[in-house]
Amino acid sequence: MKPAAFRYHAPKTVDEAVALLAEVAAEDGRILAGGQSLVPTMAFRLARPGHLVDINGVAALNRIAVADGKLIIGACVRHAAFHRPVCDGPLGKLLTDVVHHIAHYPIRNRGTFCGSLAHADPASEWCLVLAALDGEVLAKSARGERVIAARDFFKGIMTTALADDELLVEARLPILAAGTRCGFYEFSRRAGDFALAAAVGIYRLDGEKDEKIVAPRLAVGGAEVNPRRIAEAERALEGAAPGDKAFRAAATAATAAIEPMEDIINSAEFRRDLVLAVTRRALERAAES
Ligand SMILES: Cc1cc2nc3c(=O)[nH]c(=O)nc-3n(C[C@H](O)[C@H](O)[C@H](O)COP(=O)(O)OP(=O)(O)OC[C@H]3O[C@@H](n4cnc5c(N)ncnc54)[C@H](O)[C@@H]3O)c2cc1C
Repeated sequence: MKPAAFRYHAPKTVDEAVALLAEVAAEDGRILAGGQSLVPTMAFRLARPGHLVDINGVAALNRIAVADGKLIIGACVRHAAFHRPVCDGPLGKLLTDVVHHIAHYPIRNRGTFCGSLAHADPASEWCLVLAALDGEVLAKSARGERVIAARDFFKGIMTTALADDELLVEARLPILAAGTRCGFYEFSRRAGDFALAAAVGIYRLDGEKDEKIVAPRLAVGGAEVNPRRIAEAERALEGAAPGDKAFRAAATAATAAIEPMEDIINSAEFRRDLVLAVTRRALERAAES
């Protein structure tokens, strides 16, 4: 099937893009980034935007930089940019571990990090990473700009705090200190499929013999409507000795804390079971990192 008719716009600057978006937002005008989610939904006529504002020609959006202790990821940075570390230390390594779970090579060559955030699929790996790290996004419209924290950004399945006339200009992730342990694990039925459940575990070690977990983060994606950190699981890790006992306790706490989605194939109880496995394995991978 072919998409319904739409008008195409190709701005060259961020200001042009947001001015165009202000004009066309009321007629379901949308940003076109990598097109890997939007174009299929248009082809199935599940979406019928009246206008597409294609940001691929806006050179300023194609930047990755480190500034003020944060990794800045511009709106046109493709998933494939993360095949190699984009920054030193544990964050660069974590992103390379995660990216290989996103779809397939051709999709990673076109799809963008920020497009995934704006699309907000519950199973998106980048949404999980943003939530795990308490990252933030910069949103801009003709009305001005604002920074939105991850915890305020996701508002439900494929729903975000972005207004119709706002461009997500960049995502920002905190750089992780050397020695930070990071692990990612996801379960999907086939390689490249969306995850049925995924987890990111992050912590540092303290004490004379590195015997204590400090500043733990454990976030779950794919199981609930949005990815989020699980405070109950983090409490089980704080101050504990890194190892099987603490990881199992955190996984059990995460499993009890979540309200899993269900669909015609996967029951809530199955997803709960998956969370038990993916959280423990993410923490085991963190221990090996
Ligand atoms: C077969 C297949 C398998 C896939 N598997 C996975 C997977 O395992 N994990 C995963 O996370 N994703 C997966 N995807 C989705 C893929 O990662 C997309 O690239 C991503 O969801 C959207 O990014 P995009 O740049 O292609 O956005 P687009 O498709 O261009 O846009 C998606 C939506 O976000 C909006 N948008 C995009 N960028 C911005 C912006 N800067 N500001 C405001 N709004 C914006 C658009 O208007 C649109 O509504 C898969 C896709 C396919 C086709």
